Amino acid sequence: MLDKVTQLLLVEDDEDDYILTCDYLEQLDSHTFNVQWVSSPEQAIETLSKNEHDICLLDYRLGASNGLDVLKEATANGFSGPIIMLTGQSDDELDSAALDAGAVDYLIKGEMSSSRFARAIRYALARKDVEGERVERLKAEAENRSKDRFLAHLSHELRTPLSSILGYTELLMQSDFSQQAENELGVIYRNGKHLLSLLNDVLDLSKIAADKLELTLSEVNLDSMLADVYTLMRVSVLDKGLTLRFESDQALPLVTRLDATRVRQILINLINNAVKFTDKGEIVVKAWTQHVDNKEMLFFSIKDSGMGIAPEKQQLIFKPFEQIADVESRSVGGAGLGLAICAELLSRMQGSISLHSEIGKGSTFTISVYPGDISDVERQVLNFSSVPQLQSKLTPSKVHGRVLVVDDLRDLRMLVGHMISSCGARVDYAEHGQQALEKVRIADAYKAPYDIIFIDIHMPVMGGKEATIELRKMGYKGPIIALTAATMKGIHEELAALGFNDVIPKPVDSSSLYQCLQDYLVSPENAPQAKDIQVKALSEKRQRFLLVEDDDDAAQITQLLLESLGVETVIASSCAQCLQILNHDQQFDKVLLDMHLPDGSGIDLGEQVNERYPELRLVIVSGAEPDPTEIKDLNIDRVLLKPINLGLLETLIS
Ligand code: ADP
Repeated sequence: MLDKVTQLLLVEDDEDDYILTCDYLEQLDSHTFNVQWVSSPEQAIETLSKNEHDICLLDYRLGASNGLDVLKEATANGFSGPIIMLTGQSDDELDSAALDAGAVDYLIKGEMSSSRFARAIRYALARKDVEGERVERLKAEAENRSKDRFLAHLSHELRTPLSSILGYTELLMQSDFSQQAENELGVIYRNGKHLLSLLNDVLDLSKIAADKLELTLSEVNLDSMLADVYTLMRVSVLDKGLTLRFESDQALPLVTRLDATRVRQILINLINNAVKFTDKGEIVVKAWTQHVDNKEMLFFSIKDSGMGIAPEKQQLIFKPFEQIADVESRSVGGAGLGLAICAELLSRMQGSISLHSEIGKGSTFTISVYPGDISDVERQVLNFSSVPQLQSKLTPSKVHGRVLVVDDLRDLRMLVGHMISSCGARVDYAEHGQQALEKVRIADAYKAPYDIIFIDIHMPVMGGKEATIELRKMGYKGPIIALTAATMKGIHEELAALGFNDVIPKPVDSSSLYQCLQDYLVSPENAPQAKDIQVKALSEKRQRFLLVEDDDDAAQITQLLLESLGVETVIASSCAQCLQILNHDQQFDKVLLDMHLPDGSGIDLGEQVNERYPELRLVIVSGAEPDPTEIKDLNIDRVLLKPINLGLLETLIS
């Protein structure tokens, strides 16, 4: 501050006073001044409107005019520095008029030699600095706010198309695709999922930065929440050949008040990290309660036997974008946002996160959350050790039927649905009881009712118990199976009385699901004919095409387009393969022939097909208009010119 020269404007019509003021200013050791002197009100207004001075000393009496007018005009013109009014004698009225007009202080010229003058100048300048800082801070805050808004907006904009990419990929993955397309769709799906989770993290972080992240507290069944986390994580744990154990040595409150989505997000994040950074051994999740400062807190620890984290890195990893830059962490991907978000979320839940880790031995992350007042809540020891640690070797036997899976957790719903569809049943989904009732009504209207319903007990909007009561009232007679973590005595009886047929305990285990499907659904050989016809009628008869095309890419895209129109498409890549397929399967509505095949021309092949299977209808697919004389003897439906597109294929089907 001392080395900075303060620009001072002195508005004074008396030269002696100007010289005196300069002397006094020189004596002040708090500041060095560069004084500019103007003597007329017009000059003063003009100079001040340039706003180039840090401070202005303004004489009240400027010849015939009044310093107050200059003051008012200067501030109106945008002078932002402090103005101190100078006057010959004390005058209370003038004092308040000057302050009203925007002066920061008022000084009698006789006081200039006193410490009052020095103080007035110091204060005025200090105030200017503070004001300047405030303006800068406000500006920065506004910039930050708009940055956060931009980020949140961008993430939303990116998430929307990504969700449909993922949704459609998932749909395609469920349809009967060739193995190759399944692999490629898998790549799209995994990468899309990864991108989505990164975007979600960025969105979370921007919400946290903008202080917009709000927790949604509700009653949460701890057993059911932990069982869901266990079911979801077990798949990736087993994929990596690790084991996952959930333990509690202590009875835990059955009902807590938490933000279930956020607590689940934190647990999944920590278990995911444990899986990512562990190559062999086990991951153990423990839960307990403990008093901290007179509050009973809920604790979870996630322990892995992985690579561990070096002591100097242990604090860093809770900061955004911090990753430990080693080969392993790079190969597993991530943006280094997960732990920063967990730490922020936990501090908002009145909790905390801590880490104990040793390089080469593993890491234990311990988190705490405030579960509301749980002093009077019923408690139970949660025990997931009864669940087999290795994926059941039981291969599902094929079943037949339509299944409705009702669960509010999307990932869990899809997982259960996937297990069921791998047995051959057709799966539909609902997010809560109300949606389930709607689906059942629609299915009944189309005379294709669900053969079995799997329904979660705790869901928003309408839970499983209420939905089952309603379903039975509506006259639904099929089996309803509860998905529940509740193991209390008498629960089976209670559920049976409500109309449930059976219970599958959470965490959902594939073998109990397969068993249940076998118990309640019929195998395809024994499927009742009548229902088969109904289901077929619902989906209309699917057309079947044989596509003979040697170019892999062209074959795949044509197949994709045909499948999207509901046509089942079998591909043959040569004349020989085409004849081989037709040898034991002629159930095709059309055979599409490429003109140039590796082992002959499409026309020759067409002749052979005509001869052997005269009932089959042929379509030539060609890059150029074929010579009419060449094809005149062939019995063909039509000729399609490449490139093939959806519209072209549509005309073929209709
Ligand atoms: P990322 O998305 O990169 O995993 P995180 O914030 O979740 O971001 O983790 C930050 C870093 O902390 C990781 O990149 C990794 O280096 C380290 N880390 C987190 N969890 C573990 C763990 N269980 N074992 C070893 N290192 C870990």
